[in-house]
Amino acid sequence: MSARSYEELRAQLGELISIPSVSADPAHADDVEQAADWVAEAIRSAGGEAAVEARDGGRPLVIGEVGASNGANGAPTVLVYAHFDVQPADPLELWDTPPFELAEREGWLYARGVADDKAQLLMLIEAARQLSAAGELPVNVRFALDSEEEVGGQSIVEWVAGDERGADAAIVFDGDMFRRGVPTFNTALRGLCYFHVTARTGARDLHSGLFGGVALNAMHALMQALSAVTAKDGRVPDPLRVGLEPPTAEEREGWATLPDGAGPLAEVGAQPSDAQALAEYYNRTWAEPSVDVHGIAGGSPDLVKTVLPVHARANVSIRIAAGQNVADVSAAFEKLLREAAPVGAELGIELVSSAEPGVISPDAPALALAREAFESVFGGSSLLVRVGGSVPVVASLAGRGIPTISTGIATTDANAHSPNERFPVEHLTLGVDAIRETYRRLGQLG
Ligand SMILES: [Zn+2]
Repeated sequence: MSARSYEELRAQLGELISIPSVSADPAHADDVEQAADWVAEAIRSAGGEAAVEARDGGRPLVIGEVGASNGANGAPTVLVYAHFDVQPADPLELWDTPPFELAEREGWLYARGVADDKAQLLMLIEAARQLSAAGELPVNVRFALDSEEEVGGQSIVEWVAGDERGADAAIVFDGDMFRRGVPTFNTALRGLCYFHVTARTGARDLHSGLFGGVALNAMHALMQALSAVTAKDGRVPDPLRVGLEPPTAEEREGWATLPDGAGPLAEVGAQPSDAQALAEYYNRTWAEPSVDVHGIAGGSPDLVKTVLPVHARANVSIRIAAGQNVADVSAAFEKLLREAAPVGAELGIELVSSAEPGVISPDAPALALAREAFESVFGGSSLLVRVGGSVPVVASLAGRGIPTISTGIATTDANAHSPNERFPVEHLTLGVDAIRETYRRLGQLG
C-alpha cells in the first residue's frame, strides 16, 4: 500500500492551511470557496468524485465519495464529516509564527485550523486514498465536509436530513482526546428546552406605600416560581429528571480517571455552584439535566420608583440528558412552575426552542469496531465521554438513526480557537492509520 510519508502529509496539510478559510469573516468568503475547491480536488485525487455544493444563504459543502473497491452496491456506506473552515486568527501578535503557515517545533505542528479541523479532515481523505489505491477499500466512503461549523451554520444539518440514502455508519472527526494517547468517543449529547416565562398579577403597577404587603408583586411571583425549578445543592428537582438514563459502569469508570472540574472552572474564572460541583463535574454536565435562568426583567431596576410591578418575565432553559425527551421534561417543568406560583398570579410559559438529546449507543457495532481500530493504533483502551452542549451534526445523524462514531485526536491543550493552535506531530500519521483501520473494520457492517 502506498502510504504517504509524514513529510508528504505535512506538505499537503500545509497547502490547505495556507488558505485562510475563516467562515466568520466576509472578507474571507473567496478563501472559503477556494478551500472547498481544494478539498474536492483532494477527494478526486484519492480516486473519488466530489462536488462543491452551493447552499442558499449558507457557505458551500463538499459532497463526495470514494467507492468501495469491490463495487459500490453491496458495500456498506460510511458517511464522514469534518470541516475546513477555521476561526479568525486574531490577535495576530500572540502567535509565535504566522497562523496560515504550517510550522513545526518541539513535537507540535502549529497553524490556525491545524487541530480544528484541517488535519483530521485530510486523514479521512488520505485513509480512503490508501485503501482505494490498494484495491482494499471495503466501504463506500461518502464525504460531507462543512465550511460553516465555526459559525454554527445549518447547511450540514439540512443536508443530512435531506439525504435519502442514509448510511450504515457515520464518522464525525472533529474532537479531542481527553487524555493524550487515549482514543476518546462521544456517546451522548444533551438536548435543550428553552422557555420564555411571564408572570402577571394585575392590570397596572401599584403604589408600594398603599399596596405593599397586601397585593401580589409579579417579580416575587416569578422568583417564587423559578425557585421551584432551579437546582438545590447541585441537583434539579426530581420531576425534571424524568426518563433519565444513568451512565453505564464503563462510562463512570472512564470519567473517574479524568481530573475533576477545578481546572475547567478556574480557566474561565467561574465559581463552583456548590460543594460537590467539582467532584461531580462530568456526571453533571454530561449525564444530568441542568436549569439556568438566563435573564429576568420587570419593574424598575434603574430609576428609584416605589412601584409594585404587576408584570415580569424571564428566559430560562433546561439542558436535558440521555434518556429524556422534550415533551416529558417540558410538561414537568410547567407543572412545577404553576404549582409554585402564588394563587392569583397568571403565568405564561412558552417553549421557544428545543432539541432532543443525541444518544449513540455504546453497544452499537460501528462504535465497537472503531474503538477496536483506534485502540490497535494508539495502544491501550479508549474512553467513552459525552458532550454537555449540542453538536448539531451529531444530533441530526443520531436523529436519523445512523450509528455515529464521534471522535477526534486533537488534544485538549491544542489551543483550538486561540493563538498558537497546535497538533501533535506523531498524530498526523497515527490518525491516518486509525481511520484506515476503522474503514477496514466497518466493512464488516455489510
Ligand atoms: Zn471543529
